[in-house]
Amino acid sequence: MTDVYPPAKRSAVMRRVKGRDTTPELTVRRALTRLGARYRLHRKDLPGSPDIVMAGRRLALFVHGCFWHGHDCARGARIPKANRDYWVAKIARNVARDAKRRAELEAQGWWVETIWECELRDAAALEPRLRHLLASAGPRAGGASGGGQSG
Ligand SMILES: [Zn+2]
Repeated sequence: MTDVYPPAKRSAVMRRVKGRDTTPELTVRRALTRLGARYRLHRKDLPGSPDIVMAGRRLALFVHGCFWHGHDCARGARIPKANRDYWVAKIARNVARDAKRRAELEAQGWWVETIWECELRDAAALEPRLRHLLASAGPRAGGASGGGQSG
């Protein structure tokens, strides 16, 4: 069998196939959409421009890769042997920066949650987790006054 697709078309097909295992952030976004949540992405006006922001609930979500953000799990603990000191220092900087962002957001009254990449492997567990999160961080009572005009 010869290859019937011209290169451009083939790469589009490959992309579609590859899209089946989505990026972690996309996985979370899709689950939130299924749950009927409305959100904004990467709000640059907030500390650390959180990946997913639900302003009505004052809820900011970060979707983090376990390795890069030093998660306390098997994947997060897997530091390459080569240049180990470099990786340890780099990840420690990321962890410190994440903690600072979280503190800044919390100081502004945001509820901050991190969804870890490893949590996304169990698709059946993700949706209940998000549902619980949405229920816990319900819309604040008596907040917005006048107009209600939000982006
Ligand atoms: Zn993890």
